[in-house]
Amino acid sequence: MFEESQPGHIDHIKQINAGVVYRLIDQHGPVSRIELSKLAQLAPASITKIVREMIEAHLVRECEMSDPGHRGRPATGLELDCEGWHFLSIRLQNHSLLMTLRDLSGKTVTGGVIDFPDDPSTPLTVVMINAVEHFFSRHYSVLERLTAITITLPGLINARSGVVHRLPDYQEEEIPLAQSLSRRTGLKVYIQHDIPARMLAEHYFGAARGVRDAILLVLDKQVGAAVITSGQLLHKNSSALVEIGHTQVDIRGRPCYCGNQGCLETVVGTESLLQQAEEQLHSMPDSLLNQHCEERDIRWLCRAAMDGDPLACDIITQAGQHVGRSLAFMVNIFNPQYILIGSPLNSAAEILYPAITAAISSKALPAYSRQVSLRPAEFNTPGTLPGTALIKDALYSGELLLRLLQG
Ligand SMILES: [Zn+2]
Repeated sequence: MFEESQPGHIDHIKQINAGVVYRLIDQHGPVSRIELSKLAQLAPASITKIVREMIEAHLVRECEMSDPGHRGRPATGLELDCEGWHFLSIRLQNHSLLMTLRDLSGKTVTGGVIDFPDDPSTPLTVVMINAVEHFFSRHYSVLERLTAITITLPGLINARSGVVHRLPDYQEEEIPLAQSLSRRTGLKVYIQHDIPARMLAEHYFGAARGVRDAILLVLDKQVGAAVITSGQLLHKNSSALVEIGHTQVDIRGRPCYCGNQGCLETVVGTESLLQQAEEQLHSMPDSLLNQHCEERDIRWLCRAAMDGDPLACDIITQAGQHVGRSLAFMVNIFNPQYILIGSPLNSAAEILYPAITAAISSKALPAYSRQVSLRPAEFNTPGTLPGTALIKDALYSGELLLRLLQG
């Protein structure tokens, strides 16, 4: 059942209008009610009513608008009132929880990291509930009204049901994480995969700010993508991760954990690139890779490539070609303005990006590929910022806003 397909429902109209007004105040504030009415294309009486409710809920406040060319009393403007509402943004990473309490502007109030208990049999929902309750009791003195909790994590999830189907390095499956945490805390819990949440963070705060159509490709140990199309995250209410990493690019390639073989991730994932470097080093004793004595991680490969080492350059160029060929399909489907690359390989962007661009140009529709701009993602270690983007998205859509207005 598609609940969104009932635009005539009065609560749904109220939700959309509230979201639009909130977004416009965020983007244009301080802004007068008259100007807001024009921008939102809503009657002044509607604006007055919506704004009054938001002021009463301490989501918006009045302020003086300075107009240097105008004499007399300053006009009354509207701006967001963010300090009185908090949310908790959680990122699950490497058997620890990164937790940040923020106000509605995204400003950090306090935070910390909680390591998982040593007993691996403790269910994830128990770990999460204990961690959240401990966090709230520890920071009780700084807590304002709580709006919601956001969780971003790797794995296979359904954003609408809040169920985590599978997580890398965990035995548990089908974990009703959002529902359990929401029942315990009484708060709305938003859950999203890391990569789509990162796409939203780039869209609201980073390199894709103000861009209506963009792709984020994450090229790391795992390879995946997310898409903003017409200003909205693609499939944001279900599984928003675009599984480009599990597209077969080598028919005789290595088996992948997904059940297929020769997936893009098995060929260009950073672990695979390092493995290729190690294997080929034996036949190239003069390679700079043999002379650089640092830890053999992706920085080691990028540094040798930037110093002109042919083997390192070759490995990164081939990876770029594979990535570009896969991205070409997405360019033809989504016609994006930007493709953002989130990768530790960005430190060798001068080698990687031309290879990606050339492959896109040769495989995608020229009219589309010509206008795509390839650029690095702004947030390479985004922490809990993607969870902040989920809150902004839920405010702009009106969904979270209506909850706060209704108390
Ligand atoms: Zn696969």
